[in-house]
Amino acid sequence: MTKLRPRFWETVPLTRMTREEWEALCDGCGKCCMNKLEDEDTGEVALTRVACRLFDDATCRCAHYETRHRFVPECIVLRPKNMDANLYWMPETCAYKLLWTGKPLFDWHPLISGDPESVHSAGVSMQHRTVSETEIDEDDWEDHVIEEPI
Ligand code: SF4
Ligand code: SF4
Repeated sequence: MTKLRPRFWETVPLTRMTREEWEALCDGCGKCCMNKLEDEDTGEVALTRVACRLFDDATCRCAHYETRHRFVPECIVLRPKNMDANLYWMPETCAYKLLWTGKPLFDWHPLISGDPESVHSAGVSMQHRTVSETEIDEDDWEDHVIEEPI
């Protein structure tokens, strides 16, 4: 594995990060793996606790990240070129969104704390809060709308 440059998130633009740096930016909050409901009239996006079928509620990670598109072809691969188009639905604390909009990472980000669990202990992740989309009918997702944990 390539070494991450020291505090690269403060010095290297998203467009110049290595693949390893880009991946390391993800804080593991799991919020992007929740289904969202979009109001057709207002464009407003509501977060639900209904998780993608591949989401592991215990680890708060994708259970098959490398091969996920075989099972969930619609899973979005975030890249600098599609950040602008995706900002509207991305969680407020998402590290990619923060840096893209010129904001710093939070102190609980694992890159800063040095602890991958700090995103969970700070209460901003979806760990142990989700229900699987395999168990909830899509018509009932609105019963599971939540405020984003921040
Ligand atoms: S919302 Fe952003 S930081 Fe959180 S898991 Fe998704 S990509 Fe990673
Ligand atoms: S396929 Fe994996 S990364 Fe994509 S939304 Fe589902 S759980 Fe998240």
